[in-house]
Amino acid sequence: MSEKYDVAVIGGGVVGSAIARELSRYTLKVAVIERAADVARGTSGKNSGVVHTGINVPHGSVKAKYNVAGARMFEEYCADLDVPFKRVGKVIVALTEAEVPDLAGLKARGEANGVPDLEIIDRATLKKMEPNIEGAGALNVPTAAIACPYSLTIALAESATASGVDFKLNSPVVGIAGTEGAFEIETPDETISAGLIVNSAGLNSDKIARMTGVNRWRIWPCRGEYIILDKRVGGLINSMVYPVPPKGGAGLGIHITPTTDGNILLGPSADYTNDGDDVRTTAKIRRQLLSEASEFLPGLTPRDVITAYSGMRPKLVPSKVGGFGDFVIEEVPEAPGVMQLVGIESPGLTAAPAIAEKVSDWVRERISTEANPGFQKKWSSVHRTREDTLSIVDSLIAEDPDYGEIVCRCEMVTKREIVDAINNKLDATSLNAIKYRSRATMGRCQGGFCGPRIVDLLLENGKSPESITLNGGDSWLFLGTTEDLRTERKAQRASQKSGATSSAKKVGAK
Ligand SMILES: Cc1cc2nc3c(=O)[nH]c(=O)nc-3n(C[C@H](O)[C@H](O)[C@H](O)COP(=O)(O)OP(=O)(O)OC[C@H]3O[C@@H](n4cnc5c(N)ncnc54)[C@H](O)[C@@H]3O)c2cc1C
Repeated sequence: MSEKYDVAVIGGGVVGSAIARELSRYTLKVAVIERAADVARGTSGKNSGVVHTGINVPHGSVKAKYNVAGARMFEEYCADLDVPFKRVGKVIVALTEAEVPDLAGLKARGEANGVPDLEIIDRATLKKMEPNIEGAGALNVPTAAIACPYSLTIALAESATASGVDFKLNSPVVGIAGTEGAFEIETPDETISAGLIVNSAGLNSDKIARMTGVNRWRIWPCRGEYIILDKRVGGLINSMVYPVPPKGGAGLGIHITPTTDGNILLGPSADYTNDGDDVRTTAKIRRQLLSEASEFLPGLTPRDVITAYSGMRPKLVPSKVGGFGDFVIEEVPEAPGVMQLVGIESPGLTAAPAIAEKVSDWVRERISTEANPGFQKKWSSVHRTREDTLSIVDSLIAEDPDYGEIVCRCEMVTKREIVDAINNKLDATSLNAIKYRSRATMGRCQGGFCGPRIVDLLLENGKSPESITLNGGDSWLFLGTTEDLRTERKAQRASQKSGATSSAKKVGAK
């Protein structure tokens, strides 16, 4: 039995991590229980990275409230946590004249939600703003922004850890017993005691709710595949390019989104599936994404694609029903002491800072606290030398020569940055933990060059070959030494030979 926590947050996505960081402002004992080997390995690491303004959500909905509030907090949030953020704006493009009247409806809804500076622009103005984009007109949304979603989640979790929160990685919650003030949360390795629970388990939030005795919700996973384009074509757009949303569709339609690192994302598709962990990518959708995006941005080719990924929407509405499903952010009578966060699909990234504030208020209505003198408001996970001027790089190299050694050539990541990523605050040591903190292996060659070098650095920094995984669990990189393998093969051959000899003897004996 571990020590008792005031609050246990289940799920280390952007929402759970934002809540942990918000609670770490106060003298509370907080644990975050995450089943994966690192934070941001679920939906929070695999989305469009858009800080939505609130234009796509119905006025008066819970989504609208938290979306608009979160968007207002986002820029300062990213500045405090040294997370890439760019206010690039968005154009929602009517591909044909027939779609132009829809823009007025979108504008009206945005204005009702308090989105400023919306403007319908004609074909010529669109061409001036986005010379490579085809369209009959557009709604210009200049306040829309992009941020790096996994960097944000990691920075939130690391700053919360530095402020005293315990992150328990590799800890899937398998059962919950007890009542408010005395919950017992079971994982394969330990039982964690807590007074209050926050259920922010994303795609499994319905299952966690059931463990707390609440049977109200069912999550319907809906996969969204993306392809990532090479930075070589990153300059083809200046802002995000969205279509007019498909009516009754599961998402906002396939859009063209710049990333804070200079790539372009095409996606996401929308396919319901029975398995929330089935984040496969497919050749069929890859072709579809390229072909649909080419209607707006002609001339894209398969050679522009460097890789693909997919994220899973935790939908509260099944595909047969379709349409709008609102966020659930409430404590329900069947489970006092549990804040249920269910169906936190898009715009959950944008809404995370506001949801965290709401949950912090809920906790502090129940537990009296004081300000935590150790709260780390400012945090920087891993420095980004690639964004520095040459004179800054020179001074960094004077401080530590490892800043002068480039390990990932595609993304210009130095040895020092990789070593800092290895020694991260959460002690997450998979190759993906290093990738998502430093950007190493994210470029055109996808780790073909720097992958082995990163393994060397892991070994130099005290990790054993057997402990190195791609993504935690049993995704080991090494299964033994070549010498072990040779000995094993030799033994196998010898036993086959003796088997063959003894059966030959038996045959001969007949
Ligand atoms: C295709 C796509 C595009 C999107 N684009 C945007 C966008 O541009 N802008 C925007 O604002 N939002 C966007 N979203 C929505 C946004 O990504 C999510 O709302 C947000 O990431 C939800 O965060 P979360 O922390 O609730 O969930 P998650 O990130 O899923 O985190 C939940 C965590 O709980 C853990 N967990 C699950 N079960 C257990 C268990 N039993 N025990 C312990 N831990 C458990 C998981 O491993 C996971 O880490 C998009 C979503 C998708 C799918």
